[in-house]
Amino acid sequence: TALPHVRAIPPYPPGRPIDDVAREFGLAPATIVKIASNENPLGCSPKVSQALTALASGVNLYPDFDCYELTHALAAANGVEPAQVLPAAGSSEIIQLVARAFLEPGRAAIIPQYSFQAYIGAAMSVGAQGLFVPAQDFAVDLDALLDAVTERTTVLFLASPNNPTGTLIAPDALDRFVDALPEHVLLVIDDAYCEYVEPALRFDSVAALRRRRNLLVMRTFSKIHGLAGLRVGYALGDPDLLGVLRRLQVPFSVSAAAQVAAVAALADTAFAERSRIENAQERARLALELTRRDIAFLPSAGNFLLLHVGAGAELADRLMRQGVIVRPVDGYGLQEWLRVSIGLPAETDRFLAALDEVHAAAR
Ligand code: PMP
Repeated sequence: TALPHVRAIPPYPPGRPIDDVAREFGLAPATIVKIASNENPLGCSPKVSQALTALASGVNLYPDFDCYELTHALAAANGVEPAQVLPAAGSSEIIQLVARAFLEPGRAAIIPQYSFQAYIGAAMSVGAQGLFVPAQDFAVDLDALLDAVTERTTVLFLASPNNPTGTLIAPDALDRFVDALPEHVLLVIDDAYCEYVEPALRFDSVAALRRRRNLLVMRTFSKIHGLAGLRVGYALGDPDLLGVLRRLQVPFSVSAAAQVAAVAALADTAFAERSRIENAQERARLALELTRRDIAFLPSAGNFLLLHVGAGAELADRLMRQGVIVRPVDGYGLQEWLRVSIGLPAETDRFLAALDEVHAAAR
């Protein structure tokens, strides 16, 4: 029999894949728009395809266990030592490693309300308590997080920009938090969307690593680098801490394809910059179109917007029938909201047209 605390974990609700929706509703896959999983609508750097083609003849060999090239490229790009870098199969893998290394029954992880669902799943998977701390006006309440810390707290997850709200913690406030959080708590800063933040507002998580030892920074290649399908991310942190996490990793968890693709993607800074700029432009345009329609949304620093729509899951279902896949967020207790990723202009237009049609039909 499966362990009851494992059975109690809420299943992760991924965005529906295009082919899946095409099959169910009898639609042609090419006509479907998926703006549900905060993926990069520009694809990935063309340098990635070149690197993957070159790799094709070597897939009979195991990947580099230590991810030497990727680790060194990440160290150089971030101005840290290679020993402060741990590549992994997406930040999702890092979240699980943290849970297994730092949590157990009797220990607790502090999790801000309305934050990435994998945090609570990871805490529950090892029988630890996940302590939700209420948000304030949908934003993270840093003082309340500090107040929630007890002797039993060993991990605190914090994402900025946060998924699914898109909210950003002011960099100076986050700096103060890094210094104020008791040292016995491992602070996990989830930087999944950090590259989308305009440079003047970006939190310097590498500088924070120099001030706090019990800090882990998680990054991913799934978002701005457009490699979600390859599963690669990394942690930055203290070498001893990363050594602990490394012991728990599935051997060779970062595939050879993921390693070469990530190295190529990291080198193409122009692609990432273009992705950031086009995302900001399209996010502003979608915001304007929503305002015109009297639809409220939260200010977002990420590559998605959280819309106040009434019945979120029902609207998502109606849109899906028209070939537009968006993300209901009822699993976060946000039944009246819908998360929409920033797509290409044509994808935004398809979304808006489908939305207008649903609203017209309701009238
Ligand atoms: N953190 C946050 C805040 C996310 O939104 C996501 C992806 N939805 C992840 C981590 C996981 O990303 P990945 O495992 O693809 O690196």
